[in-house]
Amino acid sequence: MNCSICHGPINEHKNEATGEAYWTTGHNAQPINDGRCCDTCNETVVLPRRINNAMNGRDPYEGEGLSKRKDPYSRDHVIGAEK
Ligand SMILES: [Zn+2]
Repeated sequence: MNCSICHGPINEHKNEATGEAYWTTGHNAQPINDGRCCDTCNETVVLPRRINNAMNGRDPYEGEGLSKRKDPYSRDHVIGAEK
């Protein structure tokens, strides 16, 4: 699986004890786009955009890439967009 922003490979997160990959699908890339993204893009592109949105009084997920809001695989709920 490749990142929808930089198109590089999405790194897996593995259980260090077993080496088993438990997380292979990347981060929710909204609101940048509707796909998945790598750790680097999540930290340098996606999260700053959500924070910027929130600080300007907008929905953190507001943006050109928003067509669905709920994502069962997302681990990105720390910003508090869920209502
Ligand atoms: Zn990326």
